[in-house]
Amino acid sequence: MADDRAVKVEAAAEAVDGPALSPETALLHEPSLDSFTGVVPALYQTSLFTFDSFAAMRATLEAAPGSRHVYSRGRNPTVEAFERKVAMLERAEGAVAFGSGMAAISAVLLTSLRAGDRVVCVRNVYPDAFRLMTQLLPRYGVAVEFVDGADVAAVTAALHGTDGRPARLLYLESPTSQLFELQDVAALAAAAKAVGALTVIDNSWATPLGQRPLEHGADLVVHSASKYLSGHSDVVAGVVAGRSELVDRLRAEALMLLGGKLAPFEAWLLLRGLRTLPVRLERHGRSALEVARRLQGHEAVRAVHYPGLDDHPQRPIFERYFSAGSGLLSFELVDERLVEGFVDSLRLFRLGVSWGGFESLVYPSLLSHLTGAADSATRYFEVPRALVRLHVGLEDPADLIADLTRALDSGRKGGMPLAV
Ligand SMILES: *Cc1c(COP(=O)(O)O)cnc(C)c1O
Repeated sequence: MADDRAVKVEAAAEAVDGPALSPETALLHEPSLDSFTGVVPALYQTSLFTFDSFAAMRATLEAAPGSRHVYSRGRNPTVEAFERKVAMLERAEGAVAFGSGMAAISAVLLTSLRAGDRVVCVRNVYPDAFRLMTQLLPRYGVAVEFVDGADVAAVTAALHGTDGRPARLLYLESPTSQLFELQDVAALAAAAKAVGALTVIDNSWATPLGQRPLEHGADLVVHSASKYLSGHSDVVAGVVAGRSELVDRLRAEALMLLGGKLAPFEAWLLLRGLRTLPVRLERHGRSALEVARRLQGHEAVRAVHYPGLDDHPQRPIFERYFSAGSGLLSFELVDERLVEGFVDSLRLFRLGVSWGGFESLVYPSLLSHLTGAADSATRYFEVPRALVRLHVGLEDPADLIADLTRALDSGRKGGMPLAV
């Protein structure tokens, strides 16, 4: 009986999540978790699912182990509803959720690579992904090479390698952390495919509403769902989307054996966050563009890094791949001695890591440099010390610009040098 219900539920989910509805509409409906006609999907906060009889359990375990809910490390209805929403948004065959973005990234790398393999990774990648690749992977005999992702010829050469042994995996993040460099995903994924390498891309900044890398040849998309997919700074989660064959393997090997699963309650919060993703992102993007333009005009600012700006050096790539920008950007002050006073003068932008929630945040590279011994930012890629990252939240942009302008002007009043 329980099994019949599961089948009906999946058919209903397909009817609503099918191509006839726009993503904005489909995000608002989840018939599979209907309980007592409640408008909000049910939270299945259970670790296991029971069987009516020995025969029923034997049939499931023998014939079709993945066909029914057994244990929440592998499949849970609330978590699966979140996974289906992400797959729909990425236009992927499937998705699998993890307990953090790093759990998702490490799951992909650890299940795709073996000793003797080589990874090609773009520079200025998320610092903990960088540390995973430089601290842990070498212990398992995997080598990693970092390249400028804007240089297609350099990436292609690195994929081919020098000893006739091509790379196994290409890891992209577009835009990159800190400096927001973009990648020509189609060209790089084609180069990877030509040598038989898997292309993985971190799409946390844009979300699937801003960029859909699978449509340009990437094999797997990873997200820190702690950021915009959640949107409320109350969840740490990750998700991977791609072809069924790859996602099924991740579920079997990474979820079941490495075990970094997402909690049902956090999946339930993510379903809530996703309902407002389109309206939130629209506001983040519009406000961030306004902030970026205002920063460009201030005498204490040397450069602004935001892919949505008309004069971003990689504007054609932005126009080809992105339908919108989001709320995260960085800028350089003219002198690193201005950073501390600027940060401490802000009232609305609070000082902290992470981004993607409702609130505005500031995070200077002078502090992000301190978070790890082998930091990608300082040791390898020379991110400017006067760089400051901003997350532009959902507040009224006029209030945010007033806050920034006052903090920038206060540095000048403090007698710090402005011309360098
Ligand atoms: C935050 C972040 C991650 C890591 O995600 P967690 O959910 O914090 O583990 C990965 N990639 C990018 C680009 C991020 O900003």
